[in-house]
Amino acid sequence: MSIKVVKFGGTSMADAKSIRQVAEIIKQDKERRYVVVSAPGKRFSQDHKVTDMLYACYHDMQINGECKATFDKIRERFKGIVKDLGLGLDIDSYLDKVEKEMLKYNSAEFCASRGEYLSAVITAEVLGYEFIDAKDVMIFDANGDFDSESTNEKVKSVLENVERAVVPGFYGGDSEGIVHTFSRGGSDVSGAVIARAVGASLYENWTDVNGFMSADPRIVDNPKPIETLSYKELRELAYMGANVLHPESIFPVRVSKIPINIRNTFCPTADGTMIVAELDEKELSKRVITGIAGKKGYSIIYIEKSMMNSELGFVRKVLAVLEYYNISIEHLPTGIDTMSIVIPDNELAGKEDVVIERIKKVVDPDHIEIKSGISLIATVGHGMSYKPGSASTLVGALAKEKINIRMIDQGSSEMNIIVGIATSDYERAIKAIYAAFQK
Ligand code: ASP
Repeated sequence: MSIKVVKFGGTSMADAKSIRQVAEIIKQDKERRYVVVSAPGKRFSQDHKVTDMLYACYHDMQINGECKATFDKIRERFKGIVKDLGLGLDIDSYLDKVEKEMLKYNSAEFCASRGEYLSAVITAEVLGYEFIDAKDVMIFDANGDFDSESTNEKVKSVLENVERAVVPGFYGGDSEGIVHTFSRGGSDVSGAVIARAVGASLYENWTDVNGFMSADPRIVDNPKPIETLSYKELRELAYMGANVLHPESIFPVRVSKIPINIRNTFCPTADGTMIVAELDEKELSKRVITGIAGKKGYSIIYIEKSMMNSELGFVRKVLAVLEYYNISIEHLPTGIDTMSIVIPDNELAGKEDVVIERIKKVVDPDHIEIKSGISLIATVGHGMSYKPGSASTLVGALAKEKINIRMIDQGSSEMNIIVGIATSDYERAIKAIYAAFQK
């Protein structure tokens, strides 16, 4: 029998009703043997995520030496869930122990991890599955860096002997038993790691939307849902802000080409989005672009110098300045006599003048300026490399709307064209590009 690893996000774990729905989904398919859960998320828009409340506990502890008031809210939340589920679980004793240990270890990562821990204890009880503590199988080193290969061996050897289990997402432990967490949203990564280790045929990631949309629905009316997406397309879209799945979730499953299926706990009949290693011809012929995503908040350092191209070491000297000031760059399109460096505003903030002065000194440009208020829009799709004229469709759509392109960069894989435009044109530009590719 093939194995499916299923991960449920915070909204799916938010209250007893949604947890019952989760159990129902799992029980519908015998192949859903290993379950990874997030901490309870928001039940309504003004609600708090348990993980945020746990970070608040840590904050309280640093100021007052205790966190009783905030922890009591978390206690109520979990007690309510257990009561509404009608479980015989003695959740109070778990909560007492968690509160004591949080004070004892006094670590933000330990505090934050307890939401997933308690969520998994409850889910294991509901399903009658074994609880496996992530601290013992997801291995980090003492610096808090995740050790993927040791984890792969460990998870494989432990789960080989366990028919069905629930594992908390988001955290793991080092050889001293100290708890470390992934970055926010990291339960997606935990699920992918486990899918790889058990050789799953599919990694199902259950969330609260019907998968990826081909554009932001707040900007484009009724954008098409994306049925199938390649790992590479997902990386590009996720990096540019399409945040349905933690972008690092791809790496573990990519090794064994395990597909990821994004599904909606609250609409389980929808097929969701399937993320696969490679798109077949049939998929590719269906569309030119797969999706559009974008991010605001960039600046461009624009440099001009005659004969720049033949000046040995020019680019290196400029980049060395940015490295010196700890500024990472996003894109670097160059021309014969020009060069544009795209930088996130938060990297450049407060350093503008020193950076310009330093660049002037090392390369003596004819002209240098910073253009701020830039947004980047990525138009992504393997289909573009097969279809001549994709770039001209995109550029034409922006020209028709009289939107000035400040920067354009086509990724070397030919599956991604990025344009830099003024942030005031952002929404209009996304709408125009989307519309142009629907024809
Ligand atoms: N609970 C954690 C967070 O809110 C991790 C996760 O849900 O994936 O970031």
